Amino acid sequence: MLFDLRPKESRDELFNREEELKVLDSAVARKDPLVAVLGIRRIGKTSLLKSFIKDYVGVYIDVRGVRRLSDLYRRVSEGLVSGLGRLRDVLKYIRGVRVAGFEVELKWRGRDSISFLGLLEELSRRCEEVVIVIDEAQEIRGPLSVEVKSAIAYAYDHLSNVTIVLSGSEVGLLKDFLGTDNPDSLLYGRYVLELSLSRFSRDLSIEFLKRGFSEVGVSVGDDVIEEAVELFDGIVGWLVYFGRSYLDGVRDLNAVADKAVNLALKELSRLSRREKLVLKAVANGAKSWSAVRRYVEEIEGVSIPKSTLTRIIKKLEKLSIIKNYEFLDPIYARAAKRIVK
Ligand code: ADP
Ligand code: MG
Repeated sequence: MLFDLRPKESRDELFNREEELKVLDSAVARKDPLVAVLGIRRIGKTSLLKSFIKDYVGVYIDVRGVRRLSDLYRRVSEGLVSGLGRLRDVLKYIRGVRVAGFEVELKWRGRDSISFLGLLEELSRRCEEVVIVIDEAQEIRGPLSVEVKSAIAYAYDHLSNVTIVLSGSEVGLLKDFLGTDNPDSLLYGRYVLELSLSRFSRDLSIEFLKRGFSEVGVSVGDDVIEEAVELFDGIVGWLVYFGRSYLDGVRDLNAVADKAVNLALKELSRLSRREKLVLKAVANGAKSWSAVRRYVEEIEGVSIPKSTLTRIIKKLEKLSIIKNYEFLDPIYARAAKRIVK
């Protein structure tokens, strides 16, 4: 069902991502070592990757919120479970991995254990084609990032059957994580194939909503559909959110928008007070560094040191919230207007 709020998990559930699937399939066929799938939140990265990996011997690893090694290995074993269909016969022979029914036990410390790198090595040795997806990879920080990045670097250099796909909503942070331009990074100088997911065009968005409604036999006026498309700007996750809300009885577009904006506001709440003020300035039309500074000082009565302001703007860009003083997601722009000090 198109209006399912969860990520899609198979190619036939996926709307209009044929080109992207083709890019990923050929990367695997060519045995490209490293691919990055980039795009803002709700643009459909997880859906694309979960659907894509279904056709391969592969492990999908979601590293959101991973802080410790134990978290990482738990996510890896969850990934092994979800790929068990094609992995079962391979895993049987790998030391440190035990499969029982639909569960996988991964021993990652002590005797007869296996590291993330060890797992990649075994999979590469035993399979002709292996795909490893690490979703929201920019969340890997600190010592964990050494564990993961050194494994990626080793796989890049030596494990010719492995294609690693990293994905992230915070595009600048993901690029920092990779650090292919940074001589201090473990991945310095490696080539990364980048695939940026774009929003649906107006026409595609209209088609998406119409198909979603017709799937469940509900007819909705063209004017409502067009208005929704205008509001959500081709971001598929918001289109689904709209469709779902409408089906649940929220027929007033303003009410749906309101719910979406509140959700976005919650997502912005993890930012610092100053970061939020800068966003509010941009949302209220500040289109340059000095306009932001003026807004924050004159309207909000807060003075921010110059270098701090520059740093904050850079960070908000790295988080893929703004670019060139524009919001990448119109719902976030509306949310930012509502920020209170
Ligand atoms: P991201 O990982 O980029 O945040 P998700 O894959 O979680 O995005 O998608 C957000 C929402 O949009 C989910 O409800 C998902 O089902 C839906 N969705 C994403 N891409 C597609 C697609 N190509 N076709 C249909 N629904 C999609
Ligand atoms: Mg995702």
